[in-house]
Amino acid sequence: MIPLDELREVAEIITDPVRLRTYESDGLTYHRATPGVVVLAESAEQIAAVVRLCNVYGVPFVARGSGTGLSGGALPRTDGVLIVTSKMRRILEIDLPGRRAVVEPGVTNLAITEAVREQGYYYAPDPSSQQICSIGGNVAENSGGAHCLKYGFTVNHVEACEIVTPDGDIIQLDRMDPGYDLLGAFVGSEGTLGITTKITVRLSRTPESVITVLAAYDDIEQGGQAVSEIIGAGIVPAAIEMMDALAIEAAEAAVACRYPEKAGAVLIVELDGPQQEVERQFEQLKEICRGAFELRVAADAAERAAIWRGRKSAFAAVGRISPAYIVQDGVVPRTALPQVLAAIDRISQEHGIRVANVFHAGDGNLHPLVLFDDAEPGAGERAETVSGAILDLCIEHGGSITGEHGVGVDKSRYMPKMFTDEDLDTMQLVRCAFDPHGLSNPGKVFPTPRLCGEVPGVRKGVHPLVEAGKAEQF
Ligand SMILES: Cc1cc2nc3c(=O)[nH]c(=O)nc-3n(C[C@H](O)[C@H](O)[C@H](O)COP(=O)(O)OP(=O)(O)OC[C@H]3O[C@@H](n4cnc5c(N)ncnc54)[C@H](O)[C@@H]3O)c2cc1C
Repeated sequence: MIPLDELREVAEIITDPVRLRTYESDGLTYHRATPGVVVLAESAEQIAAVVRLCNVYGVPFVARGSGTGLSGGALPRTDGVLIVTSKMRRILEIDLPGRRAVVEPGVTNLAITEAVREQGYYYAPDPSSQQICSIGGNVAENSGGAHCLKYGFTVNHVEACEIVTPDGDIIQLDRMDPGYDLLGAFVGSEGTLGITTKITVRLSRTPESVITVLAAYDDIEQGGQAVSEIIGAGIVPAAIEMMDALAIEAAEAAVACRYPEKAGAVLIVELDGPQQEVERQFEQLKEICRGAFELRVAADAAERAAIWRGRKSAFAAVGRISPAYIVQDGVVPRTALPQVLAAIDRISQEHGIRVANVFHAGDGNLHPLVLFDDAEPGAGERAETVSGAILDLCIEHGGSITGEHGVGVDKSRYMPKMFTDEDLDTMQLVRCAFDPHGLSNPGKVFPTPRLCGEVPGVRKGVHPLVEAGKAEQF
């Protein structure tokens, strides 16, 4: 470990064991570790100095924003430094004509929109955690949200990042840089390629018109059919979200969202854009949703917020109906939704574990909430089995083990189910190019790090691409 006096010289640190426990997990509390030491960073220069010390002493470091991650990405190392950015909360520049804002990494997602809303702008990616999650965390996870179906994920809204590299240099990555898209590689790299200390985000114009509709169906198959028809009709809504009966029950218990009684599924569809286009699409939508037993249209912003309240609170709400739960984040092709949902139901019944389904229906991103009682012997293990079986289903149907929450520590073991050894080794080459000593968030994303001097695994030899002279390992 780094001598604490040396760390204190460059930044504020926490060493008190009780205070350190605040940082022992992210939103996935299943994985916990007390950090060796916490640094409360206030500038890029401080972070760079800490990272350089980590290099001198060979100590791993982990970045942390607000700690809302759901894959254990910010899980600290007991032998390492946790670098927390939550004090770096300044909005440094707002350039409305250029539609850009420059912010520090600890700024919350929603704070950006709040800073420009009155001028008719907003920051489009909207994770449900947007009131608290940091933009640095969003960049690391390539976070999404309900409105990413139409507007794209974080990667589509980041123009540039200042980075502290894993060896302690401060560099700039810009979308306009010629050559390889290193900014694209950095976004979504889950803290394994360095720490971002300044982010330039794109601002979008608030749409002229918005219509929010809630359609209630007897069952989830009917709702799923409507989703296919909406997309098939060429409509690209700003959002299409679906919740099943159990998720509705939880939301009702938590925030009294007053969704239609006895609904087997609700679909929330939001249309936005120029008024005429939205009105035309709304007519089409009403026709497509004719099978719904109730169709509610928000008359104003308050009613819109009421419709969204149930959906946005769904994860936390599940705590009202179950002592413990696992949030999954698999993706399937939209067309496979009906089969996959039916299979999830079967798996749930086989294991006696309830599963509530909340999902970004438009892009096939499922968020099954696997409910269990952690006081019941064996229930946690059964929930883990169900959770893993759901990811297997996603892979079998040509989907992915993560849509927006990242791989982190939690899903690294599923990576070999999606990728061959060669694929994983090739990804490691990218990582090694940024982080040759494997100090930046080690143990995340990859199941068995096998290159650039990390923990030895199966392959100890030279990567085939390096051997063939097609790639260089630093
Ligand atoms: C109730 C709830 C709802 C959620 N809804 C959504 C949703 O709709 N969509 C979605 O995508 N996610 C959602 N999430 C997950 C989570 O909020 C996002 O992943 C978010 O981006 C994490 O941000 P954070 O600041 O909390 O990051 P943290 O949890 O602190 O860290 C996440 C990862 O980012 C890395 N990191 C943090 N800061 C930096 C930095 N400056 N530079 C480099 N790496 C860094 C960490 O090392 C870690 O790997 C939800 C979470 C909760 C609890």
